[in-house]
Amino acid sequence: MLFSPERTRWPGEGCRTVPLSGHVGFDSLPDQLVNKSVNHGFCFNILCVGETGLGKSTLMDTLFNTKFEGDPASHSQPGVQLKSNTYDLQESNVNLKLTIVSTVGFGDQINKEDSYKPIVEFIDAQFEAYLQEELKIKRVLHNYHDTRIHACLYFIAPTGHSLKSLDLVTMKKLDSKVNIIPIIAKSDAISKSELTKFKIKITSELVSNGVQIYQFPTDDESVAEINGTMNAHLPFAVIGSTEELKIGNKMMKARQYPWGTVQVENETHCDFVKLREMLIRVNMEDLREQTHTRHYELYRRCKLEEMGFKDTDPDSKPFSLQETYEAKRNEFLGELQKKEEAMRQMFVQRVKEKEAELKEAEKELHEKFDRLKKLHQDEKKKLEDKKKSLDDEVNAFKQRKTAAELLQSQAQQAGGSQTLKRDKERKNNPWLCTE
Ligand code: GDP
Repeated sequence: MLFSPERTRWPGEGCRTVPLSGHVGFDSLPDQLVNKSVNHGFCFNILCVGETGLGKSTLMDTLFNTKFEGDPASHSQPGVQLKSNTYDLQESNVNLKLTIVSTVGFGDQINKEDSYKPIVEFIDAQFEAYLQEELKIKRVLHNYHDTRIHACLYFIAPTGHSLKSLDLVTMKKLDSKVNIIPIIAKSDAISKSELTKFKIKITSELVSNGVQIYQFPTDDESVAEINGTMNAHLPFAVIGSTEELKIGNKMMKARQYPWGTVQVENETHCDFVKLREMLIRVNMEDLREQTHTRHYELYRRCKLEEMGFKDTDPDSKPFSLQETYEAKRNEFLGELQKKEEAMRQMFVQRVKEKEAELKEAEKELHEKFDRLKKLHQDEKKKLEDKKKSLDDEVNAFKQRKTAAELLQSQAQQAGGSQTLKRDKERKNNPWLCTE
């Protein structure tokens, strides 16, 4: 066998076309691909964004001909929460892992400014999980449960007026992250002529606000015509109901009112069939592909650029991952060193400050000690002076006392000798009278 570089090139790049003289078998490749995909199963994730009570759950039940679990949401949620449920469905021999995510509490708060944030965060979190799996050394993408949102059904209230600012803001924030398919919910609440005007108004508001909604692809010839026609019908006006009513001799999904019956699958009544055709039967794979090639790629690119990865260097030369890693590592180590140095400087500065504080405190203590010592000495001197004067007083008192006692004893002695003399005189002269 001859191998030449020319033989391995693709048509249009200079390779030769050679005829086959018999059946080889590679025409079964598409079948092999189909079989492999069928065996592996598919997954599809729908995000339903819209105010509580707009018929999101009912429409999902109607679309997939089943009753998904879940209680009706209340209108008293403090914020928007995203509730995700995954179901395994089977149709013929095709298995579908369907995830339905619903925005609980959307539009129920007085301040709706941040209502879009939890939705954006949720979508990003699914992209991030996929990116992390992709970046793993041992990745298992073929078995990975892909939770990235493939289609966002945006439920518009059937007001007949214009879009609410909440709707415009939310769609604008989501349009680069997800395939948005706007739908007018509960469209049985609006008359036919009002509906036509409402659709035109919504479309012009979306265009004037630069909101990119999902366009059914027209590049594949087999679906170009139907998709082109359906693009002109957007936003679809839908009605949901799981109730089956007997109409003629057929059981049909419908909503019954005192004045008549609205048939869900009647195209003159609403666009439910168009939605089902476009979302599930014709474009499900394109929605999955767009999610991966457009929205996820954008997220991945921004994220990797944010992390410092590039495809080319400033001289437009290819940038190797190894070089980027080394550069990032060096940058990180440099920053770490700078931080360490700054911390060391700060530590030295703090120690100096503390030392100065302690010295100041020590000085104050010494001054206080000296003041107290002087006070104490003054006090002591005063007390000693006082003691001395008291001692002097005591001595003087003692002297006075001794002198007094001496005087007293002298006086007593003198008094005693006079009495003796008088007694003697009285004895000698009894007529002497006493005083
Ligand atoms: P969610 O909160 O958005 O999930 O709304 P639900 O699906 O729980 O529906 C809320 C109410 O609206 C229920 O009573 C439904 O029967 C009703 N509903 C659902 N779809 C339609 C519709 O297309 N038209 C009308 N008139 N009512 C609907």
